[in-house]
Amino acid sequence: AQPLQLLDASKLTFQYADSTAREVPTEAEANAGLETICTDHMITCKWKAASGWEKPEMVPYGPLSLMPTASVLHYATECFEGLKAYRGFDGKLRLFRPDMNAKRMLMSTLRISLPGFEPKELEKLILALVAQDGPKWLPRSRPGSFLYLRPAMIGTQPQLGVQAPKEALLFITASFMPRLDLPQGGMRLHTNPEDMVRAWVGGFGYAKVGANYGPSLLATQEAKERGFGQILWLYGPEGYCTEAGASNFFMVWRAKESEGGKLQLITAPLDDRLILDGVTRRSVVQIAKERLADEIEVVERKYTIDEVLEADKEGRIVEAFAAGTAFFVCPVSWIHHRGQDVHIPMGKGEMGQYTSKIKNWVGDIMYGNEQHEWGVVV
Ligand code: PMP
Repeated sequence: AQPLQLLDASKLTFQYADSTAREVPTEAEANAGLETICTDHMITCKWKAASGWEKPEMVPYGPLSLMPTASVLHYATECFEGLKAYRGFDGKLRLFRPDMNAKRMLMSTLRISLPGFEPKELEKLILALVAQDGPKWLPRSRPGSFLYLRPAMIGTQPQLGVQAPKEALLFITASFMPRLDLPQGGMRLHTNPEDMVRAWVGGFGYAKVGANYGPSLLATQEAKERGFGQILWLYGPEGYCTEAGASNFFMVWRAKESEGGKLQLITAPLDDRLILDGVTRRSVVQIAKERLADEIEVVERKYTIDEVLEADKEGRIVEAFAAGTAFFVCPVSWIHHRGQDVHIPMGKGEMGQYTSKIKNWVGDIMYGNEQHEWGVVV
């Protein structure tokens, strides 16, 4: 038998789009449409169980062709990643810790029986797409702008038997995104309805598989109709706080006097695999440990909505924020839980001082105001 081909970014082939065919939209134009506006190119790479990975291809952005019996369309054999390419204030194009996304993609891939690959090769492909389309879509005249990169993998084998797909497709798109304005007055969270959970012990909530997202839309839609932005997902009869929408969730509070009364930055732990291991979350945790050590203790532990309600009654809540690629670091001003409301201080400006410090530190690395190993220049 032939040896299986590994994913190899150095074999990338190029078929260029007519670079004058499409123009970069204004923010208003990008907001108006129903369709995500992608850049000129995308990268695709096919895999077959019998032969391994084919040559990756950079091709003009356009539709994929799939058989109606393709595995992904029936059994949700899909996973994805999300990261951004940033046009720095120093004029450079950067990715933020793309190695973390590539490793997480592999973890998600294996969870749904899609083929493995060397994460470094995926990272190189992502960089190749940004190197190609970044200069046009993130012009130097727009520092502070970004593209959203979406690597994804799907099972394509046209075979309705319920089985691990023997054919798959990896693809990477880059899309134009207007700057996300922070929700006015902070993000409002509504806890999930009692009969809906996002993730469970033994499930796959820790993996970035499409199957986690479609079923969460119903609760989110209902919350939006009531004026809330995202769901604060609780878990179990105890009501453990896990994530806020598709972001990780943090609170700054003062611990009870009986527990030392210290100022703490608290977030759900990774160990019972109920939450996504967010790149922003990791970065926030690390930077707070490094730069706020004198003021704040960083705590990753299970905590319940009752603890939040109690802290509120006792006036111990200082700030709260959601952290993820989409909203970056976004202050949370309000949590609604079964008839009870927690109003969270927003500080004097747009957000509290710790939220603001953390946001600026991480943002400065993304946009090249601070040179740091997390910022990978394209
Ligand atoms: N939780 C979920 C469920 C998510 O989908 C995301 C977005 N990837 C996050 C958290 C935040 O992760 P990251 O900081 O890597 O974007």
